Amino acid sequence: MAAVNINQEQFNRLIAGEKPVLVDFWAPWCTYCRRISDAYDRIAQEYADRLEVVKVNIDDNEALAIQEKIEIIPTLVIYRGGKAAASIVAPESKAMIEGFIGDLLPQEEEKESRQVHDMVIVGGGPGGYTAALYAARSGLDTLVIEKLSAGGQMAQTHQIDNYPGFEEGIDGYELAGRMQRQAHRFGAKTVYAEVDRIDLAPDVKRLETSEGIFYGKTVVLAMGASPRPLGVEKEQELTGRGVAYCAACDGMMYKGKTVVVVGGGNSAAADAMILSRIAKKVILVHRRDTLRATKVYHDPLKKAENIEFRWNSVVKEIEHDDRVTGVRLKNVVSGEEETVACDGVFVSVGRKPASQLAQGQLELDESGYIAADETTQTSLPGVYAVGDVRTKALRQVVTAVADGAMAVHMAEEYLAGK
Ligand SMILES: Cc1cc2nc3c(=O)[nH]c(=O)nc-3n(C[C@H](O)[C@H](O)[C@H](O)COP(=O)(O)OP(=O)(O)OC[C@H]3O[C@@H](n4cnc5c(N)ncnc54)[C@H](O)[C@@H]3O)c2cc1C
Repeated sequence: MAAVNINQEQFNRLIAGEKPVLVDFWAPWCTYCRRISDAYDRIAQEYADRLEVVKVNIDDNEALAIQEKIEIIPTLVIYRGGKAAASIVAPESKAMIEGFIGDLLPQEEEKESRQVHDMVIVGGGPGGYTAALYAARSGLDTLVIEKLSAGGQMAQTHQIDNYPGFEEGIDGYELAGRMQRQAHRFGAKTVYAEVDRIDLAPDVKRLETSEGIFYGKTVVLAMGASPRPLGVEKEQELTGRGVAYCAACDGMMYKGKTVVVVGGGNSAAADAMILSRIAKKVILVHRRDTLRATKVYHDPLKKAENIEFRWNSVVKEIEHDDRVTGVRLKNVVSGEEETVACDGVFVSVGRKPASQLAQGQLELDESGYIAADETTQTSLPGVYAVGDVRTKALRQVVTAVADGAMAVHMAEEYLAGK
């Protein structure tokens, strides 16, 4: 049974009860909230005997969200004996939610299936599910291992306008569901688990996950990428208390406020535009004297009356009390420093590949992406890297899906040669 939405009265009654209560504070406009909803519903089902697992829509229950000091969504809070015992912001996997509620759960023995799949795909974004579609359609026994929900980064955006075939654009979450169902139609299977370790060198590759061990004759690495942190002191501690990485997800929290956006590429430009429609003032801080973002962004940004620019500037420090109060900027040309008061800092300084699993086993490029060309072949036979996790010039849905198809083509040749 899926987690149900509750109101203030039901909340008061539930948390006063015997059973611990897990609450997901969410909102319909929050794209990341949708991404965790599948995993959350599975938690509701699997732990129903030990936990009340419910949701609070903060748009319908604003007073409750304020009372519970919810500053970023999704926030998951566990209540015991009428009080909040612990909370977690924007968990990245079902395993992470399970880790969070861990001490309530009995320790399970590690599961191990000796079945050797023809292809195991790590990551269920557009690259992963396209590989799954092609592999399953070719008759390969195909398994996708996904730690959160289908769609990856794509599921975080409401509108994809540059994926061919959808003339009105399409919601990324909806497209993700379609890609997954299409791959499943041909027999691909999905296990929701986080891959913690992979042994990629042997002929039969071994994958250790939060749901046990899996084996594959070929492996497609499709783990994508995530936001790169700014790297200043207290950044992590202040995440959720003024520091954010996704304007589309957390922008609404800054209605009528002043925010700083750090970065000069396409995502910083897009974030500044989104925030200019919500916040009172947006200050775009960029280390150079011109944006790296494509030209289409330049005019709208300059025309927006509530966007200010701080060129040649870097964030040295984030100022705060219990949440962000401002940023200390340094002009890299003049060396001058200034403090800019703000309520939030949106970090948009690029992405980092989720390539940790491959470290020490596969060749990576200088930025940490898995070294693979258009063939998607990595430095080990039978191992392919697709989508945002591999070295490439353009990281988009359309290039990730192209990689997915190519990886299967190469894997079929590899398997035929065995
Ligand atoms: C807000 C936003 C808006 C965007 N808008 C557009 C757009 O309009 N058009 C466009 O073309 N592109 C857009 N992009 C870029 C596009 O979404 C990505 O290029 C694309 O999703 C990359 O696909 P992928 O399959 O390589 O990886 P991802 O989409 O990143 O998927 C990787 C998946 O792997 C899973 N994973 C990672 N590590 C593990 C592990 N250890 N175990 C199990 N699972 C794991 C993740 O949970 C994730 O689901 C946007 C990106 C963002 C963030």
